[in-house]
Amino acid sequence: MSATKNNTMIKVAIIGGGASGLLCSIFCAKFGAYVEVYEQNNRCAKKILVSGNGRCNITNTNLSQSDFFGADPSFVNDALKNFGFKEFEKFALEIGLLLDIKEDGRVYPLSNEAKSVAKLLQVTAENLGVVFHTDTKITDVKKLLQTHDKVVIATGSEAAHHLGGNSDGQSFAKVFGHNIIPTYPSLVQLHLTSKTAHKMSGAKTYGEVTLFINNKKVSACRGDILFTDYGVSGFAVLDISQRASEARMGSKQVEISINLLPNMNTQQLSEHIFKVAKSMPKFSILDILVGLIPLKIAASLLDDLKIPHTTKNIDTKVAKKIANQILNWRFEVSDTHGFRHAEVSGGGVDTREINPKTYESLKQKNLYFCGEVLDVVGKRGGYNFAFAWASGYAAAKGIVA
Ligand SMILES: Cc1cc2nc3c(=O)[nH]c(=O)nc-3n(C[C@H](O)[C@H](O)[C@H](O)COP(=O)(O)OP(=O)(O)OC[C@H]3O[C@@H](n4cnc5c(N)ncnc54)[C@H](O)[C@@H]3O)c2cc1C
Repeated sequence: MSATKNNTMIKVAIIGGGASGLLCSIFCAKFGAYVEVYEQNNRCAKKILVSGNGRCNITNTNLSQSDFFGADPSFVNDALKNFGFKEFEKFALEIGLLLDIKEDGRVYPLSNEAKSVAKLLQVTAENLGVVFHTDTKITDVKKLLQTHDKVVIATGSEAAHHLGGNSDGQSFAKVFGHNIIPTYPSLVQLHLTSKTAHKMSGAKTYGEVTLFINNKKVSACRGDILFTDYGVSGFAVLDISQRASEARMGSKQVEISINLLPNMNTQQLSEHIFKVAKSMPKFSILDILVGLIPLKIAASLLDDLKIPHTTKNIDTKVAKKIANQILNWRFEVSDTHGFRHAEVSGGGVDTREINPKTYESLKQKNLYFCGEVLDVVGKRGGYNFAFAWASGYAAAKGIVA
């Protein structure tokens, strides 16, 4: 492949020096194009730097359509087929970025530092002659289309405003008549209406979170659960947040049920509570519960059931009531913690108006999109970067084809 037009190099402008823009710039330059990256921040890749708590969960070995959400879930297939895990691993090796592949399929840089990823992408691009214009916010894409042969919108999403997240890409797309699927925060903490939940702020446990939309169970995830002064956080919560957030946006009734001891059933648990109450008659119910769950959570759970902490002589009926609450504690979700705290955004530029093979706009010739600006959002586990790489590669290939 070689990117020339009448024997002169194709001139490409990429708006956004994040994950997808950097990857796209590298391949456009590799294929022989002259590439300029415009980045509003004073440096590129700010989200990569903070990703995965500074470790960067860079991709996943198991990538399929079912790991992504959007109005057209099949849109991701071509890009993942051409630049899935194996192709990414080969590329990473070429630029000297060794990978640490975990048993569950998550992939991190071997250095365990997100900095390695950001640095190697940037120096690789620079070595290939990509020109970077940092501190440069693009406001007019039509102008860029006059000075460049091809323009790529890789501006990301509204998630994490403090790192450069915004809706510029959607505004640009609208200028060319693109439809925008309404956006919502994803991989985000949830607000709960319950005052009892707020009182547990700071308490952390492991459990299962089940999501109910309009009273119907839609998903369940196990992992860390952290109570906060507004609601809940933790991996189990982030994992169900995409569907919760989307449903909130659609004004649906959203609830979660927290199972604090997912490896026990009601009968085992109520029998245990009753047995300890019998064998330790001086124990209060709070004393019994702290042997099972964190103290702050135990105290709030009893408050919610209006059972005094000092209660003794627990009968089977009360034991069952408490066991039920431990295994199925329902909370109403009032909101998400917002784009400021979200890792990613759902919704975006409607992919049904983008060529899935080239990532060129079907509305405007020579205009391309890649990354999170599109209506594609992945699960937690490296999937969002996986799509950034795959779509950046697809756009680069589309540009030089
Ligand atoms: C805290 C956090 C942790 C995360 N951890 C992970 C993880 O471990 N694994 C994972 O897979 N995903 C993770 N993500 C998600 C991942 O970072 C994004 O999905 C990915 O960065 C999207 O790539 P992108 O290129 O589309 O957008 P970005 O990486 O956001 O890049 C877009 C760039 O465009 C620039 N820009 C925007 N508008 C303009 C304009 N008008 N002019 C010029 N420049 C502009 C922005 O400043 C930004 O640099 C995390 C996100 C956050 C916020």
